[in-house]
Amino acid sequence: MNIYLTFDYELYFGTTGTADRCILHPTKILMEMSEKHNVKLVQFVDAGYLIKLDEYRSIFPLLEIDYQLIILQLNNLWKAGHDIQLHIHPHWEDCSYSEAGWKMNVSRYTLNDWNDQQIEDIVYRYKKKLEEITGPNQIFAFRAGGWCIQPFNRIKSALYTNGIRLDTSVFPNGQYSSNEYDYDFRNAPCKSKWKFNDDPLIEESNGVFTELPISSIYNSPLFYWKLFLLGRLNPHFHKSLGDGKPIATPGQRKKLLTTFTYNTVSVDGYNAALLNKAFRQQISAKKEEMVIIGHPKALSRFGLLALEKFIIKHNRAETFTTFRAQKKSFL
Ligand SMILES: [Zn+2]
Repeated sequence: MNIYLTFDYELYFGTTGTADRCILHPTKILMEMSEKHNVKLVQFVDAGYLIKLDEYRSIFPLLEIDYQLIILQLNNLWKAGHDIQLHIHPHWEDCSYSEAGWKMNVSRYTLNDWNDQQIEDIVYRYKKKLEEITGPNQIFAFRAGGWCIQPFNRIKSALYTNGIRLDTSVFPNGQYSSNEYDYDFRNAPCKSKWKFNDDPLIEESNGVFTELPISSIYNSPLFYWKLFLLGRLNPHFHKSLGDGKPIATPGQRKKLLTTFTYNTVSVDGYNAALLNKAFRQQISAKKEEMVIIGHPKALSRFGLLALEKFIIKHNRAETFTTFRAQKKSFL
């Protein structure tokens, strides 16, 4: 099986937190771990954040330091053979910085909140920003911010024109809806990957895009009771390394604690306890691919230990790989 360890390289968007705690420090730990076990990672880099840092860094010395350290880390990741691909949070267009910190505005959180010309422009500029690190023709995989890939037909041409051929935003059976964003993946094909044209949930054998979904797992409420309780009982082990706060998701906590839910297979915090269970599910469903998601900001000491154990257990028989290394199979 091909296993992709993918990370959304970004700040928090409720209260942003710091670049050091949310991105640089946890990614450094991941890099050391991956070097020790000779596995490669995929970073879905929030390019809108880099562009905003670039915009403000000549005015605010603190941002100049963040920018330089982040570009250095991304260059080091790329040179070491890790993957850098496109993650878009277009709401950065509406955000600003002052002495008080980032002022977040998430009223236009998804690409579909923008007009056609703005979508073209955002995808073009964000991809180009990452090419400053990777060089040309390396960015071909995409993950939508907040998994908001629907409706796809409005963003299709901007992605295609800019060389995107692979999407990994869908997680089968996932569903969420709020004021800021929504997604509904309840009708996703039950496959490792598939081709599509206009809708990532509809397989078309002549599709120009490939959907390689994030693996998903069906969780009981008991799991989330444990997750929240352990966070309270042993915060040192279970607290996120990042120092910001996510956008509020009203009703989500209650839903997790009272009903069975589908969620992404993730290394974030206590979710990493389910990696081996998720792996066995992939095997029994005869899936040839496993896409694991994580966020440097949301890693915990527990999650990092669980990830390392998972890598050690599977590193011989399975292939930990990247989109960059498997590019031919997606084009
Ligand atoms: Zn994101």
